[in-house]
Amino acid sequence: MNFYIETYGCQMNERDSEEINALLRMEGHFETNSSRNADIIIINTCSVREKPSQKALSAVGRYIKSKNQGKKIVAICGCFAKQEGERLKERFPNIDLIFGPQQIKDLPILLNQVLKERRSIIDTSDTGYVNEEKFLIDKDSVTAFVNITKGCDNFCSFCIVPYLRGREFSRPKTVILEEIKKRVENGVKEITILGQNVNSYYDKHSNTDFVDLLEDIHSIEGLERIRFTTSHPKDVSNKLIMAFSYLPKLCNHIHLPVQSGSDRILSLMNRKYSRQHYIEITKKLRDIRKNISITTDIIVGFPTETDQDFEDTLSLVEEVKFDTAFSFKYSPRPMTIAYRKLRDDVPPKTKEIRLKILQGRIEEIAQEKNRNLEGKVLDVLVEEKSEKFQGQYISRTSCNRVVNIISNEELKGKIVKVKITKALKHSLLGELWKGEHHEESRSSRNIA
Ligand code: SF4
Repeated sequence: MNFYIETYGCQMNERDSEEINALLRMEGHFETNSSRNADIIIINTCSVREKPSQKALSAVGRYIKSKNQGKKIVAICGCFAKQEGERLKERFPNIDLIFGPQQIKDLPILLNQVLKERRSIIDTSDTGYVNEEKFLIDKDSVTAFVNITKGCDNFCSFCIVPYLRGREFSRPKTVILEEIKKRVENGVKEITILGQNVNSYYDKHSNTDFVDLLEDIHSIEGLERIRFTTSHPKDVSNKLIMAFSYLPKLCNHIHLPVQSGSDRILSLMNRKYSRQHYIEITKKLRDIRKNISITTDIIVGFPTETDQDFEDTLSLVEEVKFDTAFSFKYSPRPMTIAYRKLRDDVPPKTKEIRLKILQGRIEEIAQEKNRNLEGKVLDVLVEEKSEKFQGQYISRTSCNRVVNIISNEELKGKIVKVKITKALKHSLLGELWKGEHHEESRSSRNIA
């Protein structure tokens, strides 16, 4: 059968979709990139923010409609499916399958059941995670995501993840290393290690913490770059900060969600760090890697947020000077502590104004930083040919900026030097550099 997967949400969801894809291909199904040709349509959704869940709902509605004219199987999975379960069934009585993040491993069995019994199945139970994770090696991919943890134990008051993805589970080190080695043997040059909070990784069987794991991954021959996301500031240890000084494959980037610059709001969010602590981490990181790119997530309009709290967030942005930031208006998510205990009392208009001011400043800083890269020579990993612009390649700097380069040479999978010729709004333009001068090789403390 042909299957089509539509994914909404974060990188964890992207990775889950990869796993679903691998499982279905191992079962002998074929991937299609058109829902029209698909016999099985799977919508993988996220619940963390309101927008993706709304989009997913309208997609389900659309596909259910087309299903009535054909014989498709329509399934919905991910956090949102787990959260809504029976309610989704009430809304879409013709839906075939609803399953949660912990049921991905059981998908072939669930699909067989749907096909055999021709009835809707809902399975969103808390079964925990298992050690094995399915993945297929795609020979042409240069970058890959590898999960090291699943679930989360932190219970930030605005976040639904611990309720939907379950308690934190660390995959055994041996399994992770084996997966990365296989991917590297097949051409992957850059690995992004994934988890809701990678810093709290701990494999009790081998007594391995996150930095120990990074060291082991670093020693894999043929692997050129390592990224990780997401990091919780409360778990960024000095050991991790120091790792940036002696692990050159660690990319020059850290995504470190701050969420607010106000200590009062941080405490209501149950984040367990102060504004000062956060700023100190960023300073220490920049002491080790002068030009490290620091990106973040910020929520505006959290319950009780005053003008002063918002000013504190703005002043933190000014002080840290993020390379970029994802910012959102607070929206209450069911089950969370904030939903149960705090009134969503910041008026929508105020949230909107604050978000606009914040995003304006973030954008200005980001563009200034991008402009500073013009004329610099940087190493980039060439990921793929651009589908949009003929003759161009899409590449990425160590500091996680996309650089488009024009070249007739076969560059995919190579790390090449490029001179940045122009900073655009969300990316850079560059040209291959054959000269001697090279910014990055000057010092490990000054990698861009
Ligand atoms: S660390 Fe906080 S925000 Fe991140 S997934 Fe866990 S509960 Fe959610």
